[in-house]
Formats: sequence, structure tokens, C-alpha cells
Amino acid sequence: MLDPAKFYFVGNNLSLDFVNTLAANAAGPVDLIESVGDLLAWAVRAGLIDYAKAESLELVWKLDREEILARASGFRESLHRMYEDLHGNRTLNDSELLKLNRMLSRQTGTAVVVKVDDHFEKRFRSDQSDPDQLFASIANSAADLLCYSEPELIKKCENDQCVLMFLDTTKNHSRRWCSMANCGNRAKAAAFYQRKKARESV
Ligand SMILES: [Zn+2]
Repeated sequence: MLDPAKFYFVGNNLSLDFVNTLAANAAGPVDLIESVGDLLAWAVRAGLIDYAKAESLELVWKLDREEILARASGFRESLHRMYEDLHGNRTLNDSELLKLNRMLSRQTGTAVVVKVDDHFEKRFRSDQSDPDQLFASIANSAADLLCYSEPELIKKCENDQCVLMFLDTTKNHSRRWCSMANCGNRAKAAAFYQRKKARESV
């Protein structure tokens, strides 16, 4: 049973959402992609593959699961380093760019526009039976982010215990949280409690 609902899609870019599959809770890091089933469930949620196809591919990919998962986590790490560098205003490492270009070079297929909540996103759709094509779709989104967005708009959620990253697409660039439902409301509640405590101690 694949579970596409467990992932965070808050990044406004597919490659950030992929990086966000390494999340965290109070106890530490949480890897949401621990099996090829998880990787396929993520691809379903990303609109790259349909559920029935993902279920049938899970049986095939399981035969090469170690290699596929190692490639997924290696690529995710590389993207993560790249976004950390951009977020920290550091120069991009040539080797990360090389890895991205290597993933891009494997892509075959067509671009499609998908509706995500209240906006549209361009996705690259290809024969996703090949894991390389799934990674190439993610690489394509990363290329869009690098080429068409402002790196300073790549932000990290302001909750210290949260590691999620996102592209701030708000008009006045004021987004602070991965989502209001997760960290925004928690921060609001904490601020309210602090104010209440301050009032009571006067
Ligand atoms: Zn957060």
C-alpha cells in the first residue's frame, strides 16, 4: 500500500519538495523515503506517475531497490547542498552542478503543465518506468529554479526544529513558515503564550 499523503509539498518547486523528503521532528531527522514504495508514492503525489502504475512498478523496482534508493538519496543530498549554498549566499559548487547536468542529460519525454492547489507548475513527463526518468524530472525542476527564480527567495522554515525549505513566491516575500498548519500556528500559539505570561507577571 503506497502512501502519497505523508509527504510535504510546500516547496513551490518539485526539487525542493524532493529535498523536503528528509524532514525532521522533535526527535531528529526523519527520512520519508525509506523504500522504493516511498519513492513511487512521492512520485504519485508529485503528479509524475499514476497510482496504478506506481503499484506495478514497485514490484519491478524492488529487485534493484538498494541501487535505486542509493541514487535517490545521493541526488537528494546533492540538491540539498546546492540549496543550502544558495540559501547561504555561497557560490554553487561545480560538482553539484555537474551532478544536476548529468541527471538532466538522461531525460526523454515531454513537458506538461499541472494544476497544483491554486497555481500551475510545469513538469517534465516521461516514461517513469525508468528511475532515471523520475530523477530527470526532479532535475528539470531544479534547473527551472536555478535559471528562472531568485536564489534569495529560497528560504528555510523559521521553526528551529523544522528543516523544510521552500521558494517564497508571496508578493512581498514575507513567507516565514513551511506551512501555517504546521509551524506557523505553533509559533503563533507560542507568541501568544509568551505575551500572556508577560502580562500576568506585571
Ligand atoms: Zn516548518
